[in-house]
Amino acid sequence: MKNKKQILANRNASELRQDLITGDWVVIATARAKRLDDYKKQREISTTSVEECVFCDPEKSGQEPDVLIYKDHSNRWSLRVFPNKYPAFSKAQSAREWTEGPYFAMNASGYHEIVVTRNHYLDLAQLDPLEVAEVIDAYQDRYLSLMNKKHINYINIFQNHGKEAGASVSHPHSQIIAIPVISPGLKLELNGAQSYWKANKKCVYCIILEWELSHKKRLLFENDSFAVFCPFSSRVAFEVWVVPKKHRPYFERITNEEKIDLGEALGNALRSIHVALDDPAYNYYIHTSPCDGKDYPHYHWHIEILPHTATWAGFELSTGVEISTIRPEDAVEHLKQALYQANSNN
Ligand SMILES: [Zn+2]
Ligand SMILES: [Zn+2]
Ligand SMILES: [Zn+2]
Repeated sequence: MKNKKQILANRNASELRQDLITGDWVVIATARAKRLDDYKKQREISTTSVEECVFCDPEKSGQEPDVLIYKDHSNRWSLRVFPNKYPAFSKAQSAREWTEGPYFAMNASGYHEIVVTRNHYLDLAQLDPLEVAEVIDAYQDRYLSLMNKKHINYINIFQNHGKEAGASVSHPHSQIIAIPVISPGLKLELNGAQSYWKANKKCVYCIILEWELSHKKRLLFENDSFAVFCPFSSRVAFEVWVVPKKHRPYFERITNEEKIDLGEALGNALRSIHVALDDPAYNYYIHTSPCDGKDYPHYHWHIEILPHTATWAGFELSTGVEISTIRPEDAVEHLKQALYQANSNN
């Protein structure tokens, strides 16, 4: 039995934690710990006003025509999806591949769409669960139509919130990128999940869920379909994952009931971060099986949320690993408190 002093000493020792899926190591060095205030962002006042916003009135600002539009009871648009005016990938015409000596390349062909919710000021953390569910519904709708397009093997859905997270327009929006190639980050997880399955005959995400749901040390929230927790090997301070409780490889097969539960789970996750850290910049993205016609029975889709609380310096940039200054077990306590506070104010 360890005595209390030993336990306290261990709490302050730096730890290397291994990601069960990818095998990557993260560093948690709480000796450099900060007060909660130090994680909060120095608020930069948004420079885009409603008058000059390119997403408040997409038609007027010359955006491409909508590929999807949702309307509310009074027939006003509540959400719309249109192609990005400045796409990172241009519409798939031909899949041209070529070589130059030892090198190989192909056309950056694909689809790049923007998902915009109506309110200029309210991001997902401030919307109600059904409004968040509507965003999820739009993701699924677009996923289902893009996945069958020619040369599309992988669809990435993500949101950048705040300048530091790479958002160039302050109006809340998500992006959908459908491309011919699978991203390295997802490939690492697909391979990790497959080899874990081979060795243990079980899904690594289901194992993680089982542990987090029974020990509750890092659990922030759960409902019938989703668990929200800070991962054991958090790569950044206050990292949060939203994971379906049942083994589900494909996001696009989400049911209506699950969408409503996800609206609540994702909304709560973002709200707790918003309140605890005073609206920091963040990125979230959906990790789901590729749509390349192969089966991925051992993968388990999920959403990862990465708040930007630190500036990456030499170590982080060269290793791709952030030195996290808070243990996920402590981060979740701050988030839980913030969530309680947010929900009791409503
Ligand atoms: Zn706007
Ligand atoms: Zn699973
Ligand atoms: Zn992932």
